Amino acid sequence: MNKTRVSTTNSGVRILGSQIKTDVNSEISQKHSKKVLIIGLDGLEYNLVEKFDLKNLKQIEHGKVDLSKFSVLSTPVIWASFITGLPPEKHGVKVGRGWKNPFIHFLYEKLALLSHNIGLHKTAARIYSKMVFIKQGRKTLEIFGFRPDLYHGKDHYRKNGIKTIFDLVDNSISLHVPTYCTQEEFMEKLRSGEGKAFRDAFDSPHSRRVFEEKFIWEEFRRDRRDCITALGSDWRLLLAYFEYTDYIGHLFWGNLTKMWEGYAMADKLVAELKHRINEDDTLLLVISDHGMEALGKYGFHSDHAFYSANKRLGLTNPKMTDFFRTISEWLGYE
Ligand SMILES: [Zn+2]
Repeated sequence: MNKTRVSTTNSGVRILGSQIKTDVNSEISQKHSKKVLIIGLDGLEYNLVEKFDLKNLKQIEHGKVDLSKFSVLSTPVIWASFITGLPPEKHGVKVGRGWKNPFIHFLYEKLALLSHNIGLHKTAARIYSKMVFIKQGRKTLEIFGFRPDLYHGKDHYRKNGIKTIFDLVDNSISLHVPTYCTQEEFMEKLRSGEGKAFRDAFDSPHSRRVFEEKFIWEEFRRDRRDCITALGSDWRLLLAYFEYTDYIGHLFWGNLTKMWEGYAMADKLVAELKHRINEDDTLLLVISDHGMEALGKYGFHSDHAFYSANKRLGLTNPKMTDFFRTISEWLGYE
């Protein structure tokens, strides 16, 4: 007996049975076998991928992503736009971590915007990486109760009724995605001292080496392992985020050998993951939140991001907010 069992879930209809007779059912089945694997590579620069001609990263379609709607090129703000399809003023995720005191936050954002608009942002970053008094100033502000608003994660979207790509299907997985982690994950990252170690890495070759081993290569190995493990489970949407590309860009932009090493690893990663998915029914999207450009011997966020896909999506100069639609259409919604 061939009986088709259909169960309704939050995200629609799921086919559980063995034989599907009607066209309608086979259409539903086809839609629901489609998957999306997203590899998020923070700060991956389009021009460098082209320069190194990394074929796996470039895939069948690739290009720049337009970030002109972002007044400040801030990682959390841009990833929040990617996962929601909304501009910053609608998703409400703020620059940096934001400050609990609304007045301090207002000043902080205005200053960031001002320095961006008059082209001072590079100088500001250069000063920031060098000046001890800014670090001291931050500490002093914290002592007087102006603490950064620490946690921005999953709860932010739930509380504000904002739909993310992870709400499109039941079996979605997010790995280390900025602004979409749990509070425990966030605290864990904070405890590891990563932020401080990153700031210190600009100060001496020794602290740079320490940071490099612990937070660049070791984190890459962990993130790769987590991604491969997740691929073995039941998923229809998986976003695996890698931060190491942003770190090497900031610290080693002037060192082409090191940049090649890091980017070639990303290229190899994509090739490896391709072998583990069925490309017929899986959209493989590689995406960065922004690129990188020279700031002396260091790197600083450039005003465009990178994307590539294993399918012809026909996108031209897409915006970061466009991918929500691309992903939901591929999964069979809208
Ligand atoms: Zn960065």
